[in-house]
Amino acid sequence: MTFTNWAGNVVFGARRVHRPGSVAEVARLVAGAERVRALGTGHSFNRIADTAGDLVSVAGLPRRVEIDAARSAVTVSAGLRYGEFVRTLDEAGFALPNLGSLPHISVAGAVATGTHGSGVRNGSLATAVAGLELVTADGQVAGIRRGEPDFAGMVVGLGGVGVVTAVTLDLVPAFEIAQYVYEDLPVERFTEDAAEILGAGYSVSLFTRWRTDRIDQVWLKGPHETPELLWHGASRATVAMHPVPGMPARHCTEQLGVSGPWYRRLPHFRLEFTPSSGRELQSEFFVPVECVTEAFAALDDMRDRIAPVLRIGEIRTVAGDELWLSPAAGRDSAAFHFTWIDDPAAVTPVVAAIEERLARFGARPHWGKVFTAGPDRLRGRYDRWADFARLLDGYDPAGKFRNDFLDRFFPRAGTPAPKLDTRPVGE
Ligand SMILES: Cc1cc2nc3c(=O)[nH]c(=O)nc-3n(C[C@H](O)[C@H](O)[C@H](O)COP(=O)(O)OP(=O)(O)OC[C@H]3O[C@@H](n4cnc5c(N)ncnc54)[C@H](O)[C@@H]3O)c2cc1C
Repeated sequence: MTFTNWAGNVVFGARRVHRPGSVAEVARLVAGAERVRALGTGHSFNRIADTAGDLVSVAGLPRRVEIDAARSAVTVSAGLRYGEFVRTLDEAGFALPNLGSLPHISVAGAVATGTHGSGVRNGSLATAVAGLELVTADGQVAGIRRGEPDFAGMVVGLGGVGVVTAVTLDLVPAFEIAQYVYEDLPVERFTEDAAEILGAGYSVSLFTRWRTDRIDQVWLKGPHETPELLWHGASRATVAMHPVPGMPARHCTEQLGVSGPWYRRLPHFRLEFTPSSGRELQSEFFVPVECVTEAFAALDDMRDRIAPVLRIGEIRTVAGDELWLSPAAGRDSAAFHFTWIDDPAAVTPVVAAIEERLARFGARPHWGKVFTAGPDRLRGRYDRWADFARLLDGYDPAGKFRNDFLDRFFPRAGTPAPKLDTRPVGE
């Protein structure tokens, strides 16, 4: 039987998949393994989670949702999906600062790739991490907290520093929020008013099919005193919408300004339905937020190539952070996301062309999505790239957690870098 990622475009090459029921069992597995890799919910679109050795899912660990009210923090078992504990936090009067578009992904998997939601003042989900508990390559259970040496390198760890068994996350007071959708934002108005539009809510997402001179939908999540019918030339929707044309709106979180708890509005998709379109590939590129209109224009210029292989595009913002391998490291960012049709052969050349266009903005790809750039291109776009490579070698001297993906980008000290700098990662 083949075992694939969520999208079905990656067939895992792992020999076995383990689902240990205790941290001690994880430790025993790691200690005895030659090659081992942690698997979350498999929502990444490339081979980042794969291994030729053993895969370990931490989804079977005993459920932990331990709220420390005095510290405004919660420690959760790493394999929990966000949707499985957000309500408990809300009932205790707390919230996470932000969520991704879907509640279906595991905390450890999301954090390891720098997964994010939107909001000019909201960092990626990894920025909420205050501490990690992990099984290191020698089979020891270790803890590391924010502020300790290496912490900023280990959070967006690409699965290379250990098997994370628990994550401590910062909390904020629970809040209510409402979302409105605006349709048909003229591109020229976006270009003129980008900062105002992107900063108009707690979280703002722009959805475009890159087909016309209008941005199809703007999702505004936040408190709205007097939502205008016409806003920057876009019209307020009067019925609930799905961002992907043809998909049912009931798969999405409630809109039309109905106020509700943070965890039922910040994601776009509801836990009980398939998120997005289900048959797709995804790519995403982060550029400095001040370049958003220039980058938009560069992509708009090639929309005749993008549109035929696209289901929907999304533009979001992510506050800069200090996490070494975070795509938002050191810079407030705008993220250009693409939900593609599920045809790697048709999509890959378009992805490569987008990367060419965005190269002058120092674009960084989402680690869990389809991209083609290799280490020679990406190395110079991260200040702490070399430090991360050293971190991997230091925590995993025998290369137990390594896979082809990590070997390609962060070859072990003394190993020559691969010759080809560009090849599709997403197939
Ligand atoms: C429909 C859909 C919507 C999406 N929306 C968004 C979005 O809004 N924003 C965004 O930024 N991304 C989004 N993504 C991408 C997704 O968030 C990332 O790919 C994320 O990494 C998936 O988490 P996962 O649990 O499935 O991780 P996996 O894909 O299973 O693994 C990803 C990486 O995490 C590592 N990992 C997993 N568990 C552990 C662990 N316990 N210890 C150590 N390492 C571990 C793996 O080794 C691997 O390197 C979306 C994906 C899909 C399919």
